[in-house]
Amino acid sequence: MSLLPNHASPVGDLLPDLVALRRDLHAHPELAYEERRTAGIVAQALRLLGLEVSEGVGGTGVVGTLRCGEPGAARADGPRVRSVGLRADMDALPLVELGQRPHASQHAGKHHGCGHDGHTAMLIGAARQLVRTHRSLGLTGTVHFIFQPAEEGQAGAARMIDEGLFERFPCDSVYALHNWPDLPLGHAQTRPGPIMAAADRFDITVRGKGGHAAQPHHTPDALLAASQLVVQLNTIVSRRIDPNESAVLSVTRIEGGHSHNVLPAEVSITGTVRSFDADTQDRIEAALRDAAQGMALASGTVVEVDYRRYYPATVNTAAEAAVALEAAQAAGLLAGMAPRAAFTSEDFAFMLQRRPGAYLWLGQGREGLAAGDSFALHHPCYDFNDDALPLGVRWFCEVVARALAHEARP
Ligand SMILES: [Zn+2]
Ligand SMILES: [Zn+2]
Repeated sequence: MSLLPNHASPVGDLLPDLVALRRDLHAHPELAYEERRTAGIVAQALRLLGLEVSEGVGGTGVVGTLRCGEPGAARADGPRVRSVGLRADMDALPLVELGQRPHASQHAGKHHGCGHDGHTAMLIGAARQLVRTHRSLGLTGTVHFIFQPAEEGQAGAARMIDEGLFERFPCDSVYALHNWPDLPLGHAQTRPGPIMAAADRFDITVRGKGGHAAQPHHTPDALLAASQLVVQLNTIVSRRIDPNESAVLSVTRIEGGHSHNVLPAEVSITGTVRSFDADTQDRIEAALRDAAQGMALASGTVVEVDYRRYYPATVNTAAEAAVALEAAQAAGLLAGMAPRAAFTSEDFAFMLQRRPGAYLWLGQGREGLAAGDSFALHHPCYDFNDDALPLGVRWFCEVVARALAHEARP
């Protein structure tokens, strides 16, 4: 499928290199905070373009800075020069790749199963394209290309922010995209407000004393209390949350006991909660703690709750979501409003807590796959669709053109 021929600044000649780069990254996946080879390739690519390059931001993060326009544009008496941040993530998943492509993972137990190899290649492509077109397009302002580590559950974005990302590299707005297998290639969606969920994790420990299975009257039954608690947790969303709100609570692990005739002293329960607004999140956590304490009282066990909020909801600001959609249209994509948010979560949420911005779903389709291949995220046979590379490059470039032209916020 070929799209977008009539674009003002074609990127086709960049593609062979970008495809090769993407496949090289795919063959050499690196896990959270270990992206040293990847970061080195990124930094070298940005340096070759003449950008200012900062390495080691938030562990293995890299930021490249492109200043567009005449130096005089930044005069104190002139209009304020705008700045925009574009984010790509670099990490892979701890997953055995089962795909059989020539560029399949060469690192056992590591797999670019979420397409961050594609995101990294697209952002390098956008840097290449902007370096050669910003003068002819008359752009004025600063573009920060932000390559973050550890998106997969280890909050590399938060670490970059803690290490001064937005003080060192001020951004009036920030944008990111994720390849989206549920949308066809050539389509893109986003929406104002929440687009990805907040992700929480809970670990509950239920303690009795343990004892003989034939003498249950001598020990609180931790296994029975834990079982009842699992049932009760599954009523929180349906009974304690407004039906107009969306949330998910899933218990994913329960563990305890080793024998047919011993009552275990301890049982553990683990699960996750996904929600889109802080009030719902607060109510679920409070209800979970209530249920745990109520069960402790009723069963005579001791129940401990460890509840951690690891990613907030990803919330787009309205003006920037509109910019993202306009840019997608200008890039030749079929752009539309996402009808609802997704219950998966995203580290970019931390950047959107600090700066206005938007997150785009870039379609990468499910068709045309060889047998055994998959575009489903986190699937052992997943592979990024290289046909999406030019689409993402053009979207980033169109975002920059709009973000730098946008009226400065008061
Ligand atoms: Zn992922
Ligand atoms: Zn991802």
